[in-house]
Amino acid sequence: MVEFCPKCGSILVPVRKKEGLFLVCKKCGYEKKASKSAGYKKKEKISENKKNKLVIITSSSITSKEKLQEERELLQEYYEVFLETMEGEEGGGEE
Ligand SMILES: [Zn+2]
Repeated sequence: MVEFCPKCGSILVPVRKKEGLFLVCKKCGYEKKASKSAGYKKKEKISENKKNKLVIITSSSITSKEKLQEERELLQEYYEVFLETMEGEEGGGEE
């Protein structure tokens, strides 16, 4: 469920705010509220789907060192959100 900025085409990074989850463009500052059906809270899906997408991002967009650095920063933020999300969802048990 990765979304891209309609203005500049960069990856929108999920950011948690008091008002809820927002998708924010780190390049131009565009932001929008994440829809409830975005699926960020589905713990099981997150680890599989997002990881796959991250792999795609890292493997397909390495064009220069600068670009790579940029992607790394984005990925780091993604991971932080994942960890935060998964932490919040933990405790119920799988079965
Ligand atoms: Zn943008």
